[in-house]
Amino acid sequence: MGTKRIEDLAVAGKRVLCRVDFNVSTNKKTGEIEDDTRVVAALPTINLLTSKGARVILCSHFGRPEKRDPKLSLKPVAERLATHLKKPVAFATDCIGAPAESAVAAMKDGDVLLLENLRYHPGEEANDPQFAAQLAKLGDIYVNDAFGAAHRAHASVAAVAEHFKEKVAGLLLQKEVDYLGRALSHPDHPFVVILGGAKVSDKIQVITKMLEVADTVLIGGAMAYTFLLAQGKPVGKSLVEPDHVATAKEILAKAKSMNKLLLIPIDHVVAAEIKENAPNEVVAWDKIPDGKLGLDIGPETIKRYAEEISKARMIVWNGPLGVFEVAPFNAGTFAIANAVADRAGHAISIVGGGESVKAVKKARVADRITHISTGGGASLEFLEGKVLPGVKALQ
Ligand code: AMP
Repeated sequence: MGTKRIEDLAVAGKRVLCRVDFNVSTNKKTGEIEDDTRVVAALPTINLLTSKGARVILCSHFGRPEKRDPKLSLKPVAERLATHLKKPVAFATDCIGAPAESAVAAMKDGDVLLLENLRYHPGEEANDPQFAAQLAKLGDIYVNDAFGAAHRAHASVAAVAEHFKEKVAGLLLQKEVDYLGRALSHPDHPFVVILGGAKVSDKIQVITKMLEVADTVLIGGAMAYTFLLAQGKPVGKSLVEPDHVATAKEILAKAKSMNKLLLIPIDHVVAAEIKENAPNEVVAWDKIPDGKLGLDIGPETIKRYAEEISKARMIVWNGPLGVFEVAPFNAGTFAIANAVADRAGHAISIVGGGESVKAVKKARVADRITHISTGGGASLEFLEGKVLPGVKALQ
């Protein structure tokens, strides 16, 4: 990113167009906001700007509307934001055109305005230059604080930035880039990476990149069974990706040639079905019975992985180690969450990816994690070594 930081900007009296990620989760039936973590995450940037007398114009996407859809209006989010800021938040019924322009014209220094859902306009996802120009007209300075959307080359993230001389990352985006960037370019050692989740195909590039920068990679989740298959071992009915067995073999060979420690589980918790308290047993790594599914890492694996984690000075974790939504197959994920949290004060720990963030919260250890990334897809792409469009646009 550019060398200028948001703290360095003279924003008093300026109109600051600020892209935030207010894509909150809502109750499917009532539409009420269920989790406003993303709104809370944007507060430091908004407060910083208003305290310096900026006129803060916020814009965000919300859901995936194909056109104007009242169910996906950001109006309730403006109300929620006002509660957090303890001051009024104005709302414009469109993000461009007369409604937005007149709402901006009515602003005073220190005011906050939220524009209606960017995705009511197809130009947003199409990165349309004309839509971007209309949006850019609303501000003098551009701030991007939407890490969760930084991996998408959409108009409010990419094309809009071309119109501004002054463009910087907000505090949240800056923090994400600082932590994830540190893991990639100057990590502390030993650097332990924990990768789990459902599919190896989603994580191939991350595993490959992490093998370059980390010392140890611990594999868990359903992904582990594709690695087992690559070693010619039985996997029963476990979730596997036969098309990626060759890739798993390549990754194993690569780790060996690079002298990196890549561990796969040494035991598994297996059951006949994914059901709360389904009868289950622990089996050795190469003994998954026919007809059974591997649903969690076993106790020996937990011990072995925790031993590696206990030595780490830097930890990156993406993806749960088992079906953590269903007890007792959450034990492995929760044990690893605790092992990571126990390094608080000794290691920098970074957790990214929607499911692992949920797991860390469920395990009640979130307050002992150094950095919980707010962007699932974005953090994964960042860790793959890709330059995110939203970051590039600020350079
Ligand atoms: P991801 O989004 O790729 O991080 O995957 C998260 C999902 O992987 C969670 O919903 C877990 O339930 C699932 N998962 C983890 N381990 C397993 C497993 N052994 N079998 C099936 N699904 C799993």
